[in-house]
Amino acid sequence: MSKRVVVLGPPGAGKGTQCALLAAARGLLHLSTGDLLRAEVAAESSLGQQVKAVLERGDLVSDDLVLAIVRHRLSLHQGGWLLDGFPRNSPQAAMLDDLLADLEQPLQIALQLQVPEEELVARLLSRGRSDDNEAVVRKRLQIYARQTEPINARYQERGLLQWVDGLGSVEEVAARICNSLDECAPSEETIC
Ligand code: AMP
Repeated sequence: MSKRVVVLGPPGAGKGTQCALLAAARGLLHLSTGDLLRAEVAAESSLGQQVKAVLERGDLVSDDLVLAIVRHRLSLHQGGWLLDGFPRNSPQAAMLDDLLADLEQPLQIALQLQVPEEELVARLLSRGRSDDNEAVVRKRLQIYARQTEPINARYQERGLLQWVDGLGSVEEVAARICNSLDECAPSEETIC
């Protein structure tokens, strides 16, 4: 069965890695707003030029801009999907609700990856992305705590929120996510 999943968690929690594995294993669309924005920057498109400095500072780009990206991708897609990095604040979460109602694709699960802050900072600083220097990392974690974490309550109220321990090996976390999705058992060859 297709799944429609929002993957939540702070920067460095492993959302991108886990979504990529799960998407490949389950044939789901992995929609990462961060990846799409970085691709625009790398391509030096007009959108990329518009958002480059925002990404480098660790700030959020405009809600309307990311919503347009997500709307475009989801409306072209049939089947299940994983949203990675969106929604990032309450207005985006409300926009997503409206979009999914329009598309008649109700959300089925919101997965929250849990990782302690010291571990996040260590992971982010070892990653070497251009927005991963210490000052920017701290700012991104602060934005997460202030703007993104509060949206968990919205999904919890609707009984959609599942917490997953994000500490451990990639395979261990993948197995926990599979259990949460209640779909598949991990094996040695296939992550799930
Ligand atoms: P990520 O790869 O999800 O950590 O995103 C990297 C950067 O892209 C963020 O620090 C923001 O500048 C931007 N970004 C990604 N997703 C969003 C979003 N949903 N809303 C606003 N900005 C975003």
